[in-house]
Amino acid sequence: MLRLLAVLIFSATPSFVGQALAQEKPVVVSSFTVIHDWVQTIGGESFEKINIIPPRSEAHGFQLSPRHAKALRRATLIVAMSPEFEPWLAAWGKANQRSDTILWLNDYNGVPNHLNRPPNPHAWTDPARVKIMVKALAERLDKASGKINTQVAYLQYLKEIEAVDSELRKLFDEIKPENRSLVSHHANLDLFADHYGLTVAGTILSGGSAESADPSARHFSELLTIIRKQKVRLVVTDQGQNDAFARRLTEDAGLPPPLSLSFEYLEPAGQPGDTWSSMMLTNGKRLHQALLAK
Ligand SMILES: [Zn+2]
Repeated sequence: MLRLLAVLIFSATPSFVGQALAQEKPVVVSSFTVIHDWVQTIGGESFEKINIIPPRSEAHGFQLSPRHAKALRRATLIVAMSPEFEPWLAAWGKANQRSDTILWLNDYNGVPNHLNRPPNPHAWTDPARVKIMVKALAERLDKASGKINTQVAYLQYLKEIEAVDSELRKLFDEIKPENRSLVSHHANLDLFADHYGLTVAGTILSGGSAESADPSARHFSELLTIIRKQKVRLVVTDQGQNDAFARRLTEDAGLPPPLSLSFEYLEPAGQPGDTWSSMMLTNGKRLHQALLAK
């Protein structure tokens, strides 16, 4: 029997051995592209990495499919933002008694909720919060792999976050105080705006764009009043979403056409916005240009 086993092992083809080794890596599943980017950057080749919600798809209103559930069952670690942002994952964890496998990056531990309103799930738009989240991620990845191997990549990535932050800080510091107000499509820019001293005077939708009803005529006139009173300069829409309401709003308010941004997700690999850093800089620079324009 032993001899048979030895024969089997030594006659195995390199590709079979490669596959067997690959299967030994801990499996890390990310809920969406931004987290997947962090896992790739910090976790490197020590893990098998699976992403659930694909590039250019927002997380709001996502439904779990059997294929995704299969990936979740294989996971050593599942990384997501918060139970409020990914309710499908919280439900899966509960139903399968796997809640312990999930790392919720944005659970507000150590992050003061100074806005005095329901916590905003879009914490990845605020570099200060991103630093806290990737620290938690690096620690959990080390635990999942059983060794400390994320330190170098983690420290290097911290520098990258700080570089992105200071580049954006310089840009938004150029905007005059009276030009810092905007209306966003849904409430995804509040934390970004807070961080860079901008003001989100109102939002077109009440929830995420995939789960909101069309805004009412009453909301239209409310926003028009806000735009006039607070001297809002710009209406932002979420890329890929219906912008008819926003267009009518800008026409009636005498503003330039809406600016389409994509802070909700990353783009497919090889395109601008395919990493967190590139997404922040691409969208941040476009926002800066639009606020700067007279
Ligand atoms: Zn959102």
